[in-house]
Amino acid sequence: MQFKHTLIALLGLAAAALAQAQASWPTRPITLVVPFAAGGPTDVVARTLGASMMKTLGQTVVIENKLGAGGTVAANYVAKAQPDGYTFFIHHNGMATSTALYRKLAYDPMKDFEFVSQAVEVPMTLLARKDFPAGNLQEMVAYIRANEQKINLANAGLGAVSQLCGMMFQRAIGVQLTEVPFQGTAPAMNALLGGQVDVLCDQTTQTVPQIKAGSVKLYGVTTKSRVKVLPNAPTLNEQGLKDFEVVVWHGIYAPRGTPKPIIDRMNAAVRTALKDPDVVKRMDDLGAEIVPDATNTPEALQAWLKSEIDKWGPVIRAGGKFAD
Ligand code: ASP
Repeated sequence: MQFKHTLIALLGLAAAALAQAQASWPTRPITLVVPFAAGGPTDVVARTLGASMMKTLGQTVVIENKLGAGGTVAANYVAKAQPDGYTFFIHHNGMATSTALYRKLAYDPMKDFEFVSQAVEVPMTLLARKDFPAGNLQEMVAYIRANEQKINLANAGLGAVSQLCGMMFQRAIGVQLTEVPFQGTAPAMNALLGGQVDVLCDQTTQTVPQIKAGSVKLYGVTTKSRVKVLPNAPTLNEQGLKDFEVVVWHGIYAPRGTPKPIIDRMNAAVRTALKDPDVVKRMDDLGAEIVPDATNTPEALQAWLKSEIDKWGPVIRAGGKFAD
């Protein structure tokens, strides 16, 4: 009896301590894990949001770039991190596509995470090195078909949107190129600028400055309609690659079990950041579109991820490219 009372008292104390910890959250810096290299397009979104969220949260948001295996190393790391409200994760379509690309994933995207919010949607651009001998998409396709064995296509690994876009492009024009994986498209872009690789498909959040500076050649955008910051760039679809569409979306997650009050406060911080004029301007300048406020709920992200897993699974399986 005595033991039972002591246990109940201890449980009560633990619950009170937990409630107290949740109420005063955050009391130390928060880590936002990015699954690709620093300086790349996902990293740019993370750092822009993180800088703004610090104002709401009153704590530093530390960006941690955890690299490898097309983003799955980072996803697995976050899935197994302490659900204490100090580790969050930003990822893109790879959260969905990896379920079809990898035979065995060490985590379940639908079960091992809490969903915080969606954030921005980003078009992709099909690029080649500056001295690539083709002036438009038609010439590019003709050149690639004639030189299939020689062309290198850079990407950020199996699970990256650059890989997804590259896969769809190769399929659309009926070629199989040599793929060169990097740990993010920041190093892939460096290789393109240095002429070590020929072709790269990447988000505008990294490519707009390079396109505007004329350091790379642009052959089209991957969205169904043209992109405001690149008004002269035709879509791949309008140039004959029928129904070609890849839109990159970003979601923010936490390890499963992160307390709901913390998820809700993080959600509020993300939504506030998405209305911050500095964030709005930066995203605008880089061609990214902020997701409407009403859809930035944890529930909407959960439903969206499920629909993306259902959408991309069959498309990827038809390509027959898998990793263990
Ligand atoms: N653009 C990336 C991708 O291809 C990754 C990155 O942000 O570096 O998935």
